[in-house]
Amino acid sequence: MTIRTEPSFRESVDLMYNRAVKLMDLPPGLEEKIRVCNATYTVRFGVRLRGSMHTFTGYRSVHSEHMEPVKGGIRYATGVNQDEVEALAALMTYKCALVEAPFGGSKGGLCIDPREYEEHELELITRRFAYELAKRDLINPSQNVPAPDMGTGEREMAWIADQYARMNTTDINAKACVTGKPLNAGGISGRVEATGRGVQYALREFFRYEEDKAAAGLAGKLDGKRIIVQGLGNVGYHAAKFLSEEDGARITGIIERDGGLFSVDGLDVEAVRNWIVKHGGVSGYPDAQFVEDGSQLLEEECEILIPAALEGVINLSNAERVKAPLIIEAANGPVTAGADEILRKKGCVIIPDMYANAGGVTVSYFEWVKNLSHIRFGRMQRRQEEARHQLVIDELQRLDDVMGDTWSMSPDFKDKYLKGAGELELVRSGLDDTMRAAYQSMREVWHSRDDVTDLRTAAYLVSIDKVAKSYHAKGL
Ligand code: GLU
Repeated sequence: MTIRTEPSFRESVDLMYNRAVKLMDLPPGLEEKIRVCNATYTVRFGVRLRGSMHTFTGYRSVHSEHMEPVKGGIRYATGVNQDEVEALAALMTYKCALVEAPFGGSKGGLCIDPREYEEHELELITRRFAYELAKRDLINPSQNVPAPDMGTGEREMAWIADQYARMNTTDINAKACVTGKPLNAGGISGRVEATGRGVQYALREFFRYEEDKAAAGLAGKLDGKRIIVQGLGNVGYHAAKFLSEEDGARITGIIERDGGLFSVDGLDVEAVRNWIVKHGGVSGYPDAQFVEDGSQLLEEECEILIPAALEGVINLSNAERVKAPLIIEAANGPVTAGADEILRKKGCVIIPDMYANAGGVTVSYFEWVKNLSHIRFGRMQRRQEEARHQLVIDELQRLDDVMGDTWSMSPDFKDKYLKGAGELELVRSGLDDTMRAAYQSMREVWHSRDDVTDLRTAAYLVSIDKVAKSYHAKGL
């Protein structure tokens, strides 16, 4: 099959799904049942702003309810449309199944450019949108739990949570109606960094396997590898920051809306981020080469390419020229079905979106559990753990005293060992474990079957199989 014209985003996801499902032996009809979106709700509502009525269009699509609640972010962007939310909702189903977050897939969006509105206006709009969704149970702790996505963040999630609580004054689990909330509104430590952190953990896991690196023609450690990141939003920023600061990777390129930055020696991610916050773009940043047509950098030499912005950025028009041997899809759907085919033929390894960016929903799952259990992670164990560690330290201290100069504890061992895990450490540990386990389930399929030659197909096989099993368990 050769794709010559670019399909829509949803068609692209369907094509990839179909490619995988052909290799499975699903009961007749189930293949289609899993693929299609169950329902998409469109709402048009008016908000009085600046003296006149403004009409907004929003969507919430539910792809699969094989598990409830269904889960997925709400996006604020001008390009939001039904096709897009349906594609994204489908990806949520597969993503949740792959990382074993016990949710079905959903996604929402509002056609709006948030930069055109004042904060209090955005609050009015968000509350009204939340009201429209909540009254149809499209926001509900046990049925549909939104989260941040492009153009939304903690602030919007706090408004949504509050709106839901106002409408459901006796619901003791009201906070669990949305995730990605700020800490003081029922959020969890580590949710903001979660998707970027997940990308880091995914790459670390990939780099643990010689065979997998060899498939991309790579070897060695992450240390010193050249990385180009497209989009320095929440996901791209955290991924680039952690990979450069903690793993020694070199961020040689950053692509933003107004152009790209390039530096062979590596960019200072924090400094670039601060520049963007202050100046609204990367143009004028002093310590790098500015490339006016940022998308050129997608075709630049590097070891790892991280598209972390919009869907469809690597497509039929540029895939042939992309040189990176390894692409990790931090965004949803950054590589179209046609581009995927071209890149595969070239031997490029793609770590697929449904796995690569699953860190966000994984930590959302932890937040939802925290809200339902009404207790912060680690609150019961932390001091007890520290007290037990103190016992060991006391014993070692005794040894230290008797041994004189021949033996002593390493300088920072005591402090490190004594510190019991708080919520952030537990969240990171749970996320790391999730990312590792999900990667292993994909690579096992990738390497054990002759008919599976890429990680995306492997990811689909693992997740479709899980969804199919839960349908089966329901007697369908
Ligand atoms: N919007 C994010 C995603 O695409 C997070 C979804 C969630 O946390 O529910 O995965």
